[in-house]
Amino acid sequence: MTRSTPAPLTLGIVGFGKIARDQHVPAIAATGLFRLAAVVSPHGGAPEEAGLSDVPVFRSQTEMLAALPGLDAVAICTPPAVRHALTVEALRAGKHVLIEKPPAATLTELRLLLDAAEGAKRTLFAAWHSRFNAAVEETRRRLAGATVRHAAITWKEDVRRWHPGQDWIFAAGGFGVFDPGINALSILTEILPAPVVVRDAELRVPANRDTPIAATLRMEGVAGSAVGTVTAAFDFLQQGEQTWTIAIETDGIGAEGIGAGGGRLDLTHGGTRLSVDGVPMLAEPDAEYQGIYRRFHHLIADAAGDVDARPLQLVADACLVGRWRTTDAFHW
Ligand code: NAP
Repeated sequence: MTRSTPAPLTLGIVGFGKIARDQHVPAIAATGLFRLAAVVSPHGGAPEEAGLSDVPVFRSQTEMLAALPGLDAVAICTPPAVRHALTVEALRAGKHVLIEKPPAATLTELRLLLDAAEGAKRTLFAAWHSRFNAAVEETRRRLAGATVRHAAITWKEDVRRWHPGQDWIFAAGGFGVFDPGINALSILTEILPAPVVVRDAELRVPANRDTPIAATLRMEGVAGSAVGTVTAAFDFLQQGEQTWTIAIETDGIGAEGIGAGGGRLDLTHGGTRLSVDGVPMLAEPDAEYQGIYRRFHHLIADAAGDVDARPLQLVADACLVGRWRTTDAFHW
């Protein structure tokens, strides 16, 4: 008797902008676990350009849900400010929901999303894409049981290159430089053997915008923990080489033994490469979004969810304890 392969789950993408086109569509096709059944694009972004001429396009999620009652799941790929209402609507309609990072505009919104998922008995998956790299998992494994003396995050990129014309990012609720910065914090919270708290921050907001274009954070482990200090430097005006690194100094030997006399781990290129004491250990091509869709499928099969609020909590804490400074106006 031959066993038939289960049919892919049907999925609608809500918000058909840069990340939906660049990453979600190819990852859905590559993994084959979901079938893209619809796209929601309020201002008619053209799926034909993305090679999707046979996929129906709706102007709102409400329209899509009414037209396709059998849809299994949605992926919310909008900016964060509108994510909460869309996620609640999809859960109430009985859909499993994958949400892009940052998972909500506020901590309360995120907590209420958990309640909504539980009430609807559906999977809610808040994806932190930077965690889906083998080098991140390898770093987490090596730091388990180690003492981290210091970690330094440097996350500097050119907003004009990666977010061209996206005014929402500099509008209130758009996160500014924390939009990429939260990716570093998602890695940090995954790899450290103990939690950190934000002690100090400086946030620089352009005179004509609402959200920071640069920020520095100083974090610490709590007294007696296995983590000392962590600094973060986020910058959205980086020209030339783009930098997404976390340098970690340890003085203990982790469960896997990272080397006597102190070990240094450098997680670079957004979490895709790891060096230990200057020796390259791991470098794998970016397959983050394929990992996300595999995980989403597993979670649905297990009737489980995955929502980790810690990266968003650190951003919110930086905003609470930080000093706000005005800097030069920003124009695209
Ligand atoms: P984007 O290019 O501006 O796309 C956002 C899309 O959301 C737009 O096409 C917009 O449609 C749509 N949208 C807005 N409100 C909507 C609503 N109520 N219903 C349905 N669609 C709506 O932004 P993006 O770069 O793709 O970023 C989106 C999210 O992905 C952000 O949270 C970001 O942090 C995350 N992300 C981005 C990247 C990246 O490299 N860009 C990487 C990883 C994660 P209209 O234009 O038609 O209004």
